[in-house]
Amino acid sequence: MVATTGAPGRAAPRQGAVVVVGSVSVDLTVAASPLPRPGETVVGTRFTTLLGGKGANQAVAAARAGARTRMVGAVGRDPFARLALDALRADGVDVSFVAEVDGPTGVAHIRVDGRTGENDIVFVPEANAALTPAHVEEALTAAAPDEPVVLLQLETPLEVALATARCCAGLGLRLVLDPAPAAPLPDEIWAGVWLACPNETEAEVLTGVRVSDVRSAERAAGWFTERGVRQVVITRGGRGTVVVGPGGTSDIPAFGVTPVDTTAAGDAFAGALGAAVASGLAWPVALRRAAAAGALATTKHGASPSLPTAAEVDSYLARR
Ligand code: ADP
Repeated sequence: MVATTGAPGRAAPRQGAVVVVGSVSVDLTVAASPLPRPGETVVGTRFTTLLGGKGANQAVAAARAGARTRMVGAVGRDPFARLALDALRADGVDVSFVAEVDGPTGVAHIRVDGRTGENDIVFVPEANAALTPAHVEEALTAAAPDEPVVLLQLETPLEVALATARCCAGLGLRLVLDPAPAAPLPDEIWAGVWLACPNETEAEVLTGVRVSDVRSAERAAGWFTERGVRQVVITRGGRGTVVVGPGGTSDIPAFGVTPVDTTAAGDAFAGALGAAVASGLAWPVALRRAAAAGALATTKHGASPSLPTAAEVDSYLARR
């Protein structure tokens, strides 16, 4: 681990390492009021082309939170690949383990209703579907001497998720799985997961337990811990976070903010949590920073533009 130089008399903050295994896409977002019905054409009000994908969002979130961050994923050979890689690099993310494969880069086609703010999304994985277990194993083995915290989501193939879990178990790396979008997984994956951070909906899809309060969150968390997960963090949007682990259960309230767009709150939370854990922060401090990052992400529009920096989290927490 690399230690940065701190002020005399103060413990130097340690800059932790984070590796993100996941999707890299481009979000093509249009807004219109109202959205067209099938067969109809309307004139929209806004169009943006921005880096997206849960993997890339979490990488940017971890990098902005101060971690040395490496992305493991795949892009195609098209102009969107450049856009995605340039955006990751602009946030200091190491993209040397982002494979370039034949065909298009993944895209998410997002339509926002300008009146209600509601959106619908068509995600086309494209290059993300070509990410292979062998590529991930090579990347994790290369990164292992740094003892990174590894972040994983489910927008890449199932065999990649399984290989990541196996590899992290073998290398003794802490794996944080954000099981989104929720999909049935073979039980063997959970033995390699150090921390699972589903939201309420994902927790229900995976466990069959409807999460509506702390007790039901605890029951859902039990499903994960029985399968070998050490810590379970169930995120509940503005209702906060329920954390279940060796230290017992805690119900952490959300910070009071006025949300304008909740997109990527979970990615901000996961990236900031991974960075905080990697830097060796105490568990309650790491959770507090993650909750602040999630809350701040809801106060700005968009996915990657809303992910806060460490300085923004510091100043938000200092004002409280
Ligand atoms: P996801 O985006 O995966 O559905 P959540 O919406 O549960 O994830 O958000 C993740 C975390 O971000 C929450 O646990 C909470 O700490 C914070 N957060 C999300 N929405 C809000 C909100 N409306 N107010 C305050 N904090 C929020």
